[in-house]
Amino acid sequence: MRPLCPDCHKARSRCYCHLVVPVLPGPKVVLLVHPREDHKRGALNTARMVRRCVQGAELFVGLDFHAHPRLSVLLSDSGLAPFLLHPGPGSLNPQDPEVGRILGGRRMLMLVPDGTWRQARQILRFNPHLAALPRLGLDGPEPGLVTYRRQPAEGCLSTLEAVHQALLGLQAFCPSGPPRALHAMKAILRHVVDEQVALGGCNDSGPGAGVSNR
Ligand SMILES: [Zn+2]
Repeated sequence: MRPLCPDCHKARSRCYCHLVVPVLPGPKVVLLVHPREDHKRGALNTARMVRRCVQGAELFVGLDFHAHPRLSVLLSDSGLAPFLLHPGPGSLNPQDPEVGRILGGRRMLMLVPDGTWRQARQILRFNPHLAALPRLGLDGPEPGLVTYRRQPAEGCLSTLEAVHQALLGLQAFCPSGPPRALHAMKAILRHVVDEQVALGGCNDSGPGAGVSNR
């Protein structure tokens, strides 16, 4: 076994911790990771990169979150307004004034299903209470960095790219900072992808929160 970095869980050669500039949270980010995605060999694991970069972000692995004690506490917190970062009918662009109206002065709780498209949809099927939340979608996302992955549709993004774009778009309602920290997130993904490409890529079948309005 190659020694792994205790903080980012990557091999020492692929450790990106030196690039991390902590992103001070605007929204409270919670990653809901499909169990299969979490154990996939060679996966980029960009959900874990998000947790490493965004202060206070939490990551739960599972399928059925109805009885999840910590998530239940967060969902019943009256100071938090839950949103789902996943495209769907009526999903709102992060800059839509309607987002500010729903927040009503509360802090956003941004729930991010992570896994392949299929796995993310499966998480939502198991959790209709989460599927029914107001949704954030991303309009015309920039092309993803994770180009060597098999993309289910154009405009799909890795979980880290989707969260990064959402945080940028939400600056008016719940600013995250500093700007260089948000910058660093993309630099980290580039670093890890370059390393992975150098090693011959991986078998990831697609992004989880690959958010697109289409
Ligand atoms: Zn590290």
